[in-house]
Amino acid sequence: MLLVLGRRVSLSFVKRVIPQDPVLLSKPILQNFRTIQFRVIHSSTVFAIATRQNTDTMPERRPFVRLPTDVYPVNYGLCLKPDLIDFTFEGKLEAIVEVNLATNQIVMNCADIDIITASFVPEGGEEINATGFNYQNEDEKVTLSFPSALQKGSGTLKIDFVGELNDKMKGFYRSKYATPAGEIRYAAVTQFEATDARRAFPCWDEPAIKATFDISLIVPKDRVALSNMNVIDRKPHPEDDSLLEVKFATTPIMSTYLVAFVIGEYDFVEGQSSDGVTVRVYTPTGKAEQGKFALEVAVKTLPFYNDYFNVPYPLPKIDLIAIADFAAGAMENWGLVTYRETALLIDPKNSCSSSRQWVALVVGHELAHQWFGNLVTMEWWTHLWLNEGFASWIEYLCVDHCFPDYDIWTQFVSADYTRALDLDALDNSHPIEVNVGHPSEVDEIFDAISYSKGASVIRMLHNYIGDEDFRKGMHSYLLKFQHKNAATEDLWDCLEQASGKPIALVMSSWTKQMGFPIIVVDQEQQGDDRILKISQKKFCASGPHNGEDCPNWMVPISICTGEDPGCTKLKVLLDSPETTITINNVSPDQWVKINPGTVGFYRIQYSSAMLESLLPGIRDLTLLPVDRLGLQNDLFSLLHKQADMQEEKNRIERVLGAISAPDLIQKVLTFALSVCAHNHSCPGNWSVLLAPAILSGEYTRH
Ligand SMILES: [Zn+2]
Repeated sequence: MLLVLGRRVSLSFVKRVIPQDPVLLSKPILQNFRTIQFRVIHSSTVFAIATRQNTDTMPERRPFVRLPTDVYPVNYGLCLKPDLIDFTFEGKLEAIVEVNLATNQIVMNCADIDIITASFVPEGGEEINATGFNYQNEDEKVTLSFPSALQKGSGTLKIDFVGELNDKMKGFYRSKYATPAGEIRYAAVTQFEATDARRAFPCWDEPAIKATFDISLIVPKDRVALSNMNVIDRKPHPEDDSLLEVKFATTPIMSTYLVAFVIGEYDFVEGQSSDGVTVRVYTPTGKAEQGKFALEVAVKTLPFYNDYFNVPYPLPKIDLIAIADFAAGAMENWGLVTYRETALLIDPKNSCSSSRQWVALVVGHELAHQWFGNLVTMEWWTHLWLNEGFASWIEYLCVDHCFPDYDIWTQFVSADYTRALDLDALDNSHPIEVNVGHPSEVDEIFDAISYSKGASVIRMLHNYIGDEDFRKGMHSYLLKFQHKNAATEDLWDCLEQASGKPIALVMSSWTKQMGFPIIVVDQEQQGDDRILKISQKKFCASGPHNGEDCPNWMVPISICTGEDPGCTKLKVLLDSPETTITINNVSPDQWVKINPGTVGFYRIQYSSAMLESLLPGIRDLTLLPVDRLGLQNDLFSLLHKQADMQEEKNRIERVLGAISAPDLIQKVLTFALSVCAHNHSCPGNWSVLLAPAILSGEYTRH
């Protein structure tokens, strides 16, 4: 899923009140409490008994327990009949299930659904009617009770139910739109991630409980009906000739959160990717033209991923559809990707290039999930950061490949990378990898740390491993875990085997602890060699890190010189607080720069002499735009840390150079320095004000 740009970190949960009863807590919450006893009762479920620290009122959160594994689904036969006038739906589920352990109960997820009848038919046996439906509303579960034990083996679970086409933009919901004539109508659409499939049909709504789906929809005959797979049958409804029954092909084995259906009025444009997949972009009626750009992107993107992963897209079609009411930016439902209209539609006459780039990135993001997320799925929501961080990185790789003239990586640095550094320097940041117990915690970790820092550290990892080995590792990961589930460590294992590098060790230092280091660097010339003294310490926006146990990172460091600014001369892994590096054959007049390409997720503090030596490279533009941007961003972030503000101001002005608009720079610097002096922090966006001019070279010329 892609969030809407501009959403910021929500850390309100760390302030939540903790009841005295055992509660499920994620690590950041746990860190807030003094007295805590742990009891691990599930591989990814940690219970804690915490002493209440304050007395605000919050509803008690009951202990979270995953679904029992004694009965699990193999195939869902699901038929839904939405009523687009009364906003209700009728459903019929016939699920083939496997009973592992004899039981007289079946526990499933179910929310806002009324079950009418339920029964179980053992293979070759007699139908057993359920005698009770016990709803546990708070846990969003229902327990079906049977008069006798269901024996080990296969059977069919039949459930008839009704539900509401809600207006909450989650589950199976209604979306309002106007026809070209101005009439208000409603479509029925879905949004199931993270845990809302249970609002559309009773199911085992956990990502690791995968099954195949045979979906049928009964819809008004003048409406479009779409689902994950292609249509295999369409016939009039036997009882009502104004309705059509539309049957879709069986899906591959998949998680419930990726199931989707849409019923409404849409136009479409269609294309074929070079690898034979039918691609359609569905738009509001009369706006098919506006789907053409997304179609061009999708048709280019599918073969890119096919080739990059060396694993074919497994479905015969993919639909991309613009939904009028949509909470997120887009959702990667397998074969039926849903988007808010602004993330998919491009008006060829009136759209600006930034809108096109945004659409290209969102399409690239969601199509990457068709492999990374849909084909191989996270075992539990704890690994969500990897799903999102990976897609948020590879969307740029894909757009850079398909539209090289966008220079999209420079935008990554000015958007995701700097945003992640700004947020993660705050004292109330959190590690990327957060242990998730109750799925309601999932909403709390869908934030810029998961997306932007996740993407930034994967970009750093890709650079550290090198593209060839990275692709090799990705391919073996996708092959090994296709149609299954995986944990973060499984990807590290595959990349470790492909590269021979200590990936798990390196990455855990970036994902399991919050924040990032500042790399302090000084140099000395010894004959033809340049000796660099490098050290790391935690970078904090609030001032120097004063904690006793300063964390360390395993930092992949690249170094370039003025001889060839675009080329990495040396790569090292800084795995200690400090080290000394010798670069051979560097003449005394050559500048040396750390982090070419602004790929490493850290800030750099050069000695004054090193910084001054970079001036010519900034002035004559031999230092690449993305490096000038990274340097500028580091300098601004360091401003408030200097005791002598005037000296620092002078230094920055020297490095940025005299500018063609001195009034502007003076204003910005004066403002920033005053804010820094008063607040002990710098506004994160002011460097963005200057970025276009830095990139164009305006600030580097007298
Ligand atoms: Zn996503």
